[in-house]
Amino acid sequence: MKNNTHLSSKVILMVEAILLITSMLFCSISVYRARIGIRKAIQQRMLDIANCASGSLDGDALGALTKDDVGSDVYNDLYRRLAVFRDNVELEYIYSIREEADGQFVFTMDLDQETPAAYGDSVEYTEALARAGDGISAVDEEPYTDKWGEFYSAYSPVFDSKGNVAGIIAVDFSADWFDGQLTSQMRSTVVSYLIILLISLLVAAALSLSTVRPFMKMQTELFEEKVRAESANIAKSDFLANMSHEIRTPINAMLGMNEMIMRESRASKGLENIDAKTAKESMNNILGYAGDVQNAGHNLLALVNDILDFSKIEAGRIDLSEAPYSLGNLLGEIGNMIRIKAKDKDLEYIEDIDRSLPDKLCGDAVRVRQVLTNLLNNAVKYTEKGCVSLKVTGRRQDTGTVLLSFVVSDTGIGIKAEDRDRLFGKFERLEMERNSTLQGTGLGLVITKRLLDMMDGTVSVESEYGRGSIFTVTISQKVVEDTAIAELEPEKESAPEIQSSSDTAEETKQDISGGLFRAPTARVLIVDDTMVNIMVVMHLLKHTQVIFDKATSGADAIQMAEKTMYDLILMDQRMPEMDGTEAFHRIRATQGGASSDSPVVCLTADAVVGARERYLAEGFTDYMAKPVEGYALEKMLMRYLPKEKVETA
Ligand code: ADP
Repeated sequence: MKNNTHLSSKVILMVEAILLITSMLFCSISVYRARIGIRKAIQQRMLDIANCASGSLDGDALGALTKDDVGSDVYNDLYRRLAVFRDNVELEYIYSIREEADGQFVFTMDLDQETPAAYGDSVEYTEALARAGDGISAVDEEPYTDKWGEFYSAYSPVFDSKGNVAGIIAVDFSADWFDGQLTSQMRSTVVSYLIILLISLLVAAALSLSTVRPFMKMQTELFEEKVRAESANIAKSDFLANMSHEIRTPINAMLGMNEMIMRESRASKGLENIDAKTAKESMNNILGYAGDVQNAGHNLLALVNDILDFSKIEAGRIDLSEAPYSLGNLLGEIGNMIRIKAKDKDLEYIEDIDRSLPDKLCGDAVRVRQVLTNLLNNAVKYTEKGCVSLKVTGRRQDTGTVLLSFVVSDTGIGIKAEDRDRLFGKFERLEMERNSTLQGTGLGLVITKRLLDMMDGTVSVESEYGRGSIFTVTISQKVVEDTAIAELEPEKESAPEIQSSSDTAEETKQDISGGLFRAPTARVLIVDDTMVNIMVVMHLLKHTQVIFDKATSGADAIQMAEKTMYDLILMDQRMPEMDGTEAFHRIRATQGGASSDSPVVCLTADAVVGARERYLAEGFTDYMAKPVEGYALEKMLMRYLPKEKVETA
């Protein structure tokens, strides 16, 4: 593209040069032609004077003049007539000439007042004079010199009554006068041409600029567009390559560990009389592998969530929700999660929360949680020893809001000063060699930054390379109630709106131990077109001894709900033919249906922002995003199954 721009400017320069040369050539030819024309006009003017003078004379009288007539009345009359021209017209000399029989031209009358030629003195011969002798008026093409100076002369014959040339009237114009006339007239002509040339050049330049400028602009824009597209393409390729690696890593772990579970299980199955110690060892191995599978699954899910979040942010499709939430609960949950992660790496987790801060705030708790989780997870991820800490303070504002400040510090690897500008860029991962074993997409901080921009918040970083980093976030949130965090009962149950499907290390442990309750008489309908999903729910809740029925379509679910009384219905959304929402409405609308009033929980992979609110607005009893967690599922069942059927552990 650069070459093209170069080429087009060359072409434009060439066109302009040709235009200039052509204009100059045109002007030169015009000036040359103008010079000939001006010369002719001057000569014509000289001739006109000569012709006028000759026309004022009586040819017979002039022809009859002899030397002896000098001073006679006839002579004087002729003299007076010519004197009028001498005195009134811009000429040097005027005189009459006669051609003698021998072809000589002589003066017959000279009107010069200082040194007039005498009658009979010979006249300087020129071709123009000879032509006048032949009866044709003529002007000298070249100047000639005589004793009076250098001249151009115009000659006009005077005819007698018989039509013969009786004499010639000559008018002399000095060569200086002639050249002066030519020069001055040429000067004004040349100036006019130069003005025309200049104007046409200016017009041409303006025209070429106005046509070329948009063209050049277009080319520049195209070039920039190309560069943008190329760099976007490179970033996309890098991202895809990285993504492919990031996705394969957990899948590899899941498949590998699953293979180990299968091998271990087959081996145990093959043993005839397995002793208790071997059985326990084998079980422990299987539990270990299963834990790894679960971890990898969570990593994969976090990755997918990041990618989805990022693509939504990029497409401008993320809407922040405004709902009341408990700051105390939010911080409690985050603290629990990070404490476990820090402990796994032998890191200390220090929390310093100003407990006088108001607890009931209004804002998007999910996104606030996401921002803090991203920063705290990074702090743990990029720290090998020492501690990770979270300090929360706030300042009340007049507007009924509190400006919260979250400071996440670590004693980790730190960030080089020169890398800090790249930190919040898309797909930017610093020190790839050093961090190659750490999972990440380079999306966490860019998501954090964009979310904070949307919330009118800020994020800044201070770091000492090799010593640790400090990320500071500020967000302004509305205060709903003035109760301080400290006044709350500790260990309050988490608010449902800030539930998340990831970060469930604690829940995982409870999953493995299993069993919050038993409800052997409760009956639940699971509706999902994918049998594996139904099986996952059934297995996760196996120990509850709940009776499960399965429906693999909306239509089946309606029929079954009409006939059987279910204590709870778990309804998938995206199903062929009839989606979950329609099936739900039809169940509710079935007059006298056994389960028309049963609680129906929406269980869906539709986890975009606002999905929960949308489904609750449809009338669903509750909402849970897939993939489901055993512990959360169990709590959900406990909440909606009839109390008399639930036996808590
Ligand atoms: P990633 O998924 O790679 O962690 P992030 O966007 O969260 O992506 O972070 C971008 C990069 O910034 C990381 O790859 C890492 O190099 C650097 N980084 C982020 N947080 C920290 C931290 N607390 N200490 C050191 N480096 C960090």
